[in-house]
Amino acid sequence: MVHQAQQLDSGQEMELIASSISKIHELEAKYGRPKNSVLLLAVSKKKSPEQIVKASRLGISHFGENYLQEAIEKINKLRELNLKWHYIGSVQSNKTREIAQSFDWVQSLDREKIALKLNEHRGNNLDALNICVQVNLSGERSKSGVSINQTEELCKLVEELPNLKLRGLMAIPAPQSDFQLQRIKFRELSRKFNALKTNYPSIDILSMGMSNDFEAAIAEGSTMVRLGTLLFGARL
Ligand SMILES: *Cc1c(COP(=O)(O)O)cnc(C)c1O
Repeated sequence: MVHQAQQLDSGQEMELIASSISKIHELEAKYGRPKNSVLLLAVSKKKSPEQIVKASRLGISHFGENYLQEAIEKINKLRELNLKWHYIGSVQSNKTREIAQSFDWVQSLDREKIALKLNEHRGNNLDALNICVQVNLSGERSKSGVSINQTEELCKLVEELPNLKLRGLMAIPAPQSDFQLQRIKFRELSRKFNALKTNYPSIDILSMGMSNDFEAAIAEGSTMVRLGTLLFGARL
């Protein structure tokens, strides 16, 4: 059982990670997706550097973090592994310098002001910062993300900023246990993604799907699933 809140031993940890990777391949085949068309982002918030090292030994190279100080400690500690770090938490405007200088990706861009600040602080000594625009699919006021209708405007701005590279869209739909209803939400984002790709050729990442809905996301064309619990067990 993946969801029980108990400490896993090291063998169980490796097993969970390996089985998550094969599950993704299984779903690619099941839904007619090309092999390796779905990238795995390992969401390592609240997980130890040792667990990240284990995942990296199994071939995972992209890691997602929400809590800035915790993330920066891990990034510094694991520098030799050459991992790709994705910031997936909400970006506060007084944190843009640290985020722009420490991460390879920001998946949670949701406003113009933050785009301008990330661009300014990235500087040109580093490769452009990869950006996904976060879309609010549920229209919940409490959730971050731009509406589907405002998505292109923010993409256009990112495209114009020299130290940012527009890579795609990210969404966290409201929790929903019905598979068909999960698919309907993801389909909406997938349509927007395909429409944008025509005008913005750098777009290649559709970041959707978490532990409880990644099958529906893969069925609807996700190119990156963000898995935490499934991969590492419950966050204690
Ligand atoms: C925590 C988190 C995840 C992973 O969630 P799980 O349900 O544990 O897979 C994915 N995306 C974002 C943005 C998150 O904050």
